[in-house]
Amino acid sequence: GLSKYSTASAALEEPIKPSIQVEHTQLLIGGKFVDAASGKTFPTLDPRTGEAIAHVAEGDSEDVDRAVVAARRAFDEGPWTKMTAYERQKILLRAADLIEKHNDELATLETWDNGKPYAQAAEIEVPMFVRLIRYYAGWADKIHGLTVPADGSYHVQTLHEPIGVAGQIIPWNFPLLMFAWKVGPALACGNTVVLKTAEQTPLSALYAARLFHEAGLPSGVLNVISGFGPTAGAAIASHMDVDKVAFTGSTDTGKIVLELAAKSNLKTVTLELGGKSPFIVCEDADVDQAVEAAHFALFFNQGQCCCAGSRTFVHENIYDEFVEKAKARALKRVVGDPFKGGIEQGPQIDSEQFEKILKYIRSGVESGATLETGGERLGDAGFYIKPTVFTNVQDNMLIAKDEIFGPVQSILKFKDLDEVIRRANNTRYGLAAGVFTKNIATANTLTRALRVGTVWVNCFDTFDAAIPFGGYKMSGQGREKGIYSLKNYLQVKAVVTPLENPAWL
Ligand code: NAD
Repeated sequence: GLSKYSTASAALEEPIKPSIQVEHTQLLIGGKFVDAASGKTFPTLDPRTGEAIAHVAEGDSEDVDRAVVAARRAFDEGPWTKMTAYERQKILLRAADLIEKHNDELATLETWDNGKPYAQAAEIEVPMFVRLIRYYAGWADKIHGLTVPADGSYHVQTLHEPIGVAGQIIPWNFPLLMFAWKVGPALACGNTVVLKTAEQTPLSALYAARLFHEAGLPSGVLNVISGFGPTAGAAIASHMDVDKVAFTGSTDTGKIVLELAAKSNLKTVTLELGGKSPFIVCEDADVDQAVEAAHFALFFNQGQCCCAGSRTFVHENIYDEFVEKAKARALKRVVGDPFKGGIEQGPQIDSEQFEKILKYIRSGVESGATLETGGERLGDAGFYIKPTVFTNVQDNMLIAKDEIFGPVQSILKFKDLDEVIRRANNTRYGLAAGVFTKNIATANTLTRALRVGTVWVNCFDTFDAAIPFGGYKMSGQGREKGIYSLKNYLQVKAVVTPLENPAWL
């Protein structure tokens, strides 16, 4: 568990030099690394310093066009779509093997570009990437339709066919995992892909995509565009020859993507958006376990999780004990260079997020919440923020309503179940919730009453390739992972044949 760390935040020393060079900075189109048509590049920054790691080709609508042409050709002409499912499966399994073999390189790029602790990238995220690709490789040869008992005079079968060219737009908080959640099911179902990475974190996906090609993925099946949202992202969402778009990011941008899809060719859209997830600690919960889990639920990944448990509701009878322990836990959190061993928290992704979080902290203080610990930056370089805990948080405060996406825990007090259900659901979001109780009836009541896509009971952030994930309300549309993601990437065709020919005579 994370509680083994007991030292105070490590002093911020000189950043550790990563052990590898950046190999890929160009766009991957039609199986080749190429410059942007405009020749433009943009710097991708090291969140530990704010300095450039590398200059990356800046894809724009012209590059998206080129990538869609390549993906369309690969879909229409093969060989990908003409291969047997077993062949596609073998390629995906080989890709997973290569990702596993290159764990260190991928984890290094992820930490360097994103700022997350290296052990988290190397021991959790890259292995989960491998697991996801193997899981979906397993599905590749098990996708099939049904025979339908029509009215007895027809033979009806359904064919489950790939949709075509899938556009995928991913965020910066889990660059490799978001790549896997999107690319895994799309390829397993036989689609081709144009994926845009987040402008903050372009590096790991280019490396991973190269490994897919080494594994035998034909040219044009997986194209990766680095670039910005309003240019490259919007070009994907509005492209007339993209058949489906999957997006993860903020709710505001999700609306834009849906609108662009509607205004162009009505491509189907799946959206994985923001959250303000309640973490409910009932009167009978084991307080120490709940404190640790609530801490993890909020602070994991620098607080940059769409499902972060960002409203910690605690029953009034255990509130004081919980607050004291939650504060002590936050004070013990080890913040520092994410390449250093034993670090629990690195820097935030960029100056924009860093400033936004500090603004929310100021708003919490101004609105009358009690700042128990943290509340300011750590050091004077990079984007480090001290683990922050607010108590006496009221539902109408901005820090209790908006997605902060940073290391800021808000603790709220409640009296009874009906009240906490009403308050937990009183948000435009509905992504996830945590429930801590030893009482099965309380757990059952809460899991059914909460209007969210995932309820974690006596745990949090338990992810597996087979568990579906997605949001109610303004947290999104559709589900990713598990068998649910397959239907995002399949069309259903009904084939109807009369049993006796010709039926119309
Ligand atoms: P964002 O939604 O703007 O970015 C996500 C992705 O969408 C990126 O690849 C971006 O380039 C792309 N994008 C941006 N504008 C676009 C457009 N007009 N058309 C198409 N694609 C576009 O998120 P952000 O600005 O990086 O972060 C802002 C906030 O979003 C965060 O503070 C956080 O609250 C939330 N967020 C949520 C998640 C999540 O996993 N749900 C991830 C990242 C950020």
